[in-house]
Order: sequence, then structure tokens, then C-alpha cells
Amino acid sequence: MDGRPFYLCPMSKSNSYAILFEPVKIGPVVAPNRFYQVPHACGMGHLRPQAHSAMRAMKAEGGWGVVCTEECEIHPTSDLSPYSEQRLWDEKDIPALSLMVEKVKAHGSLAGIELVHNGHMAPNLFSRLPALAPLDIQLDVGYPKMARAMDKQDIKDLRAWHRRAVKNAKAAGFDIIYVYAGHNMTITQHFLSPRYNQRTDEYGGSLENRTRLTRELLEEAQEMAAGDCAIALRLAVDERMGEDGIQAHEDGRAIVEHLAKLPDLWDVNVSDWPNDTISARFEPNEGAQVEAMSFVKKTTGKPTVGVGRFTSPDLMVKLVKDGVLDLIGAARPSIADPFLPNKIREGRIEEIRECIGCNICASCDSLGVPIRCTQNPTMGEEWRRGWHPEIIQPKKSDKSVLIVGAGPSGLECALQLGRRGYQVTLAEASKDLGGRALGESKLKGLSSCKRVADNRIHELQQMANVSIYTNSRLSAEDVVEFDCDKVFLATGAKWRSDGTGRTHNFPLTDLGGMRDSTPDTIMLGRIPSDPVMIYDDDHGYMGGVLADHIAACCNDVTFVTTAPVVSPFTINNLEQDFIQRSLVEAGVKIYVSTQVLSLKPGCLELQNVYGGEPFEVACPEFIPVSARTPNLELKRELDKLAPELPVEVIGDALMPGLIADSTFSGHLAARSYEADETEIETGKFMREMPSLPPKANF
Ligand code: ADP
Ligand code: SF4
Repeated sequence: MDGRPFYLCPMSKSNSYAILFEPVKIGPVVAPNRFYQVPHACGMGHLRPQAHSAMRAMKAEGGWGVVCTEECEIHPTSDLSPYSEQRLWDEKDIPALSLMVEKVKAHGSLAGIELVHNGHMAPNLFSRLPALAPLDIQLDVGYPKMARAMDKQDIKDLRAWHRRAVKNAKAAGFDIIYVYAGHNMTITQHFLSPRYNQRTDEYGGSLENRTRLTRELLEEAQEMAAGDCAIALRLAVDERMGEDGIQAHEDGRAIVEHLAKLPDLWDVNVSDWPNDTISARFEPNEGAQVEAMSFVKKTTGKPTVGVGRFTSPDLMVKLVKDGVLDLIGAARPSIADPFLPNKIREGRIEEIRECIGCNICASCDSLGVPIRCTQNPTMGEEWRRGWHPEIIQPKKSDKSVLIVGAGPSGLECALQLGRRGYQVTLAEASKDLGGRALGESKLKGLSSCKRVADNRIHELQQMANVSIYTNSRLSAEDVVEFDCDKVFLATGAKWRSDGTGRTHNFPLTDLGGMRDSTPDTIMLGRIPSDPVMIYDDDHGYMGGVLADHIAACCNDVTFVTTAPVVSPFTINNLEQDFIQRSLVEAGVKIYVSTQVLSLKPGCLELQNVYGGEPFEVACPEFIPVSARTPNLELKRELDKLAPELPVEVIGDALMPGLIADSTFSGHLAARSYEADETEIETGKFMREMPSLPPKANF
């Protein structure tokens, strides 16, 4: 690989996936193929228009026939601050959106926009306007404020805002404009749902009445579009709540039948967001929504798009041939591999970078930062660092590189340096490649982590300029003897066994015989004996995963955490609810907001973090999930033995974090190696600056 683009081969005539590349008419517009990037959050929104445009354009370049925005607020009463979604409050928002349209269309794709009013999901913290809903109801966003029940004038106003947004979306150049009634985040869905809509006027009660607002928005959008743009309806056909919510084969079907011919395109999924974007841990299968959505196309006869973490082209072809979907919708698969369509077109299926369903991408929206991806380290970096997922600058010299450690960071670094054309040696202490990706994949629900390693190993094994050695734990002497020009240390980190973490900055004393267990020993296959106590002072995903994993083989599992809920970080990646429920169902005893005070023979002394009487819990086996220590012994030895050797530490050895942080670190190091000053290097990236008036106007 010499840094040239390698994705421009034509489709072979015998391509058995040709059906996926047929054009699809959507109302007045034509999608060039069946690959459809559905609207998805990205943490860029109205604050980062250049980053957003470049990211969406990369999908279009990679072959997605339709590329949509994330949700786009239509009015300051739908203000999702501090989250950065798109905005089309008025004409002033048009230029930022036009930029995305222009860049997407430059690749021959259609551009779609998902207009939204979020009702009582919008806290309006920036605009400070009252929130709106079908009924008087608490805001659903952790802010002690009520949304007010809309009167007739409010409904008229909402329709007018929507009409204006359609007009402005059309002016921005969009081909597909959405009416959005999904994810439990939209006022239209709230009107559809008897749970929220308890009105007694013509907008409440019967299905016809509850559907009225959506119908009006669709009809008016069609009127404003005037045959120039397609109008899509994104609808949650099932709320995954059983009788308490909309069900696909009851209300869901009735709504679809009622509105069947109005939209030019049906974009259907299940609600709410965590159910739609369900992580692989709780739904390992591709196409999990197919059963719920399969009636839509048959009922409406209209083009239909649906999602389900689709990566397999065989399944895609089947769904089209079976008349379930016309367009293959994707958010996460398009994030993990923006070039998925082109790879299928060119028969390079084994090169597809598969989404592992970890939802770190979604966590960025929750955290209000630009999107990132465990599998695709270039995601979100298209504009600010100029990274392309399929192109990397060729090598600058014939220097040789040694990478020590083949976890996610070492593998990614080796892969990118290999693509650049360097002579790369990758040495791994264990018999298998993959590091923590392999270890974590052995825990309950995390098997897809292994793909982080598998995808990279597959490509590395094709490279003549990369040599891989397993069972090779290198000492400082080995490294020096190797005589290479540059060393990357990707030696990872280990979990601490002494309880040092957020709450205890010093080791817990007197761990006695209980020191053996850590997450690392469980990943190596140790099966603990009853009763087991997991102490989570880390607050990431590991504590909850371990409890779930161990509860599958032990009867007496106690989970103690200093946090107020189990695994609080996972609120961001949409898993928390599933995790805590899973532990409750498995019979795990849960103590939240509780700290370990001390360890006594056979038991632990616990106390609520806010005070109160200490209490004791029996515990022969104690597994602290607290902090990690970078493996830097080799670095320290090398500093002594060969201080002049260019050594760079990457991944968990530099900063223990998520697997996504490791792949990013490996990628950044590989791109930065021998980079020109003009090139983007470590710590250097572009920022979008607010435009200020000339000084005189201050
Ligand atoms: P990261 O997430 O940064 O990739 P991991 O912990 O997943 O970190 O991977 C680190 C890898 O480095 C492990 O597979 C480990 O076996 C390997 N390793 C650690 N020290 C050495 C060493 N001295 N020689 C070779 N491999 C090593
Ligand atoms: Fe898939 Fe994880 Fe990447 Fe999201 S972050 S696209 S879930 S691999």
C-alpha cells in the first residue's frame, strides 16, 4: 500500500450484490443506489458545520446513495442545548446546512434533513422558552421544569414553524425532508402515543385524532416541497413496551395504514433511542428490527428504509428481494465503515470494517463532543485533522519500525504504518493477537470486541512489509538488539488489585488472601467461587460486565459501587438501563453510593458514601474494578539502557481508556510518524471559530 486511494474499481458484472446498486425513485428524486445513511447524531450539529459537512461527505464518497443530517430543531422551543444538533430555526441557519448539501451532492448522493420538534424532550436551556407537549408534563431531561399542554394556537404555530423549516430546507438544497415521529424524542410521536396524548379535542382520543398532527405536517410539507423534494416520515412502529406503548402489529400498523400514501418514503424503526441503537451486548444479531418493520412496505407500497446494524450484503439482498426494504438504512455501519457500499460494489467484502455495536459513537452525542468510533479512528476527524478512512500519506523514508504489543493500539498502529509502506515488525507477548479486545471478548455480551482485532489482523496478514511475532515478550535488551529506527510501545495496562481508584487514592489495607482477582484474571478464565463481591469504583462498563458475567456462573454475587447507579458511564452509550435491569434479573445484590471502608477476614466493611453506620458483608472473593496501571516497565528499562532510542508510548500504556481511545492513539501515532510540519500532527487540529464582528463594533 503506497497511500493511493484504492477504492475506485468498477463493479464487476458478476457481482451478486448488483441489486443493491439499483437506483430507487423516492417521490420526485432518485437515490443512485440502495445504501441509505439514515439521520444519526454526531455531536457536531450547528456548532461544527465544517466538521459535519466533511463527515457526511465522506459517507457520500464511500458510496452511500443518501446521506442525512442528524435531527434538526425547527424552533427555539425545541432547543436541545447543551447538545449540539442541527438547527433550522430561521433563514440564518441555511448556509451551514447548504455546505453539507453541496459536499454530499458533489459525490452524486442525495442529501436528507430530519426536521424535528422535540416537545418535552427539549429543555430549552439556551432559549429559555416554555417547552411544549400534548399534555402538562415534566421535562424528560433531568431539569425540574414542566412542559405545557399545547392549545390550538400552539398547534397552529408548530405547523407554521414546520412549514417554514421545510421551505428553508428546500432553499438549502435538500432532496429529502423528514417529518420525524420516532425515538420518543419527537412531539409528533408524543401526539401519536396514548401514553402522552390524553387530549379530549380533535388531536386526542381516537387513532385518527392522535394521527392528525402528523398528517397535517406531512400534507403541509408536501405542499411546501411542491414536487421538488421528497417527504419522508420517520416513524417508531414499535416502542418495545408491550401493551404500555405503540406495538408494531397493533397501533403501529394502524398508524401506517392511516398515513400510508402521504410520505414519499417510510423510514421505520423501533423506539426509544436505546432500543433502536441497541448495543451488541444486548442484541448481538444483525437485523433485529426486521420483524417489527416487515409489514410497512407491504402495507404502503412506498419506498421503505429500515436499520438493524446491517453489514452483511447477503442479508441486505434478501431484505430487498423479500420486499421488506427498498433501501438499506445504516447509522453505525456507515460510521464504522463509510466505504461499506463501495467495498460491496467492488467485491471487497472481507475489507469491510464491521461495527462492533459498542455505541461509543452514540456516547459522543450524549457528551456533547464530536463523534468517534472504536473501529474507525478517522470518524469525526475528516475536517479537523484531514483524515480519510481509506487514504494515508505514503512513507517518508525507508526506516524500520518495531511495535511492541498487539492490542488495539499496536494493531492499529501497525496497520496504518504498514499501509504507509514502512517495514513494520509487530511483537506480541501472548500466543494470540488482540490484547484487551481479545480478553474482553470473552466476557458475557462482549464477543463482538474481537472484531477490533480480527479486522486488523486480516489486513496485516496480507502485507508483505509487516512481520508479526507472537509468543514474543520483548525485554529492553531484545528491543535494542532489534536495531530498528523507531519503537512504539503498545504494552497496555493492567487492572489494579488493591482497590486504589476514585474514592481511595491509596491501596485498601489488609487485602489478605483476596488479592488474586481482578478483571484481568476473570478475562483469563478464572471462575470465582460464591459468594463474590465486585466493587466498582471505576464507573465505566467493566464493573457491570463482570457482575453480569460472574452471575452467569455464581449464585451469590454482590455489586457495590460508589456511583449512584450501576455503570454510570453507560448512560452515554445507551446501555445503562439494560445493564442494571440485567443485574437485577440475574439476582445480583446491588449496593449503590456505597464505598468499601476496610477489609476484614472474610468480610468487607461498607458505608454509604454520604455517611451513616458502617456495615459488614461476607466476602471471601473480592474483585475490585477501580483503576488501571499502565505497563511501563519496558519503557523504564529502555530509558536506562538506550536513552537515545526513539521510543513512543501509545494506547493504554499512555492513557488507559476505552478501546476507542486505543485505536485512535495507534492511528494518530502512525499518521504523525515522520509527518511534515505542514501535516496534521499530534495535538494539532483545526477548530471552528465563532465569527466576530469587526473590533469597532464591540
Ligand atoms: P492497547 O489497548 O493499548 O492496545 P492492550 O492491553 O490491549 O493495550 O494490549 C497490550 C498488549 O501488549 C498485550 O497483548 C500484551 O500481551 C502486550 N505486551 C505487553 N508487554 C509486552 C512486551 N514486553 N512484549 C510484547 N508484548 C507485550
Ligand atoms: Fe459501531 Fe462502536 Fe463504531 Fe459505533 S463506535 S459505529 S457502535 S464500532
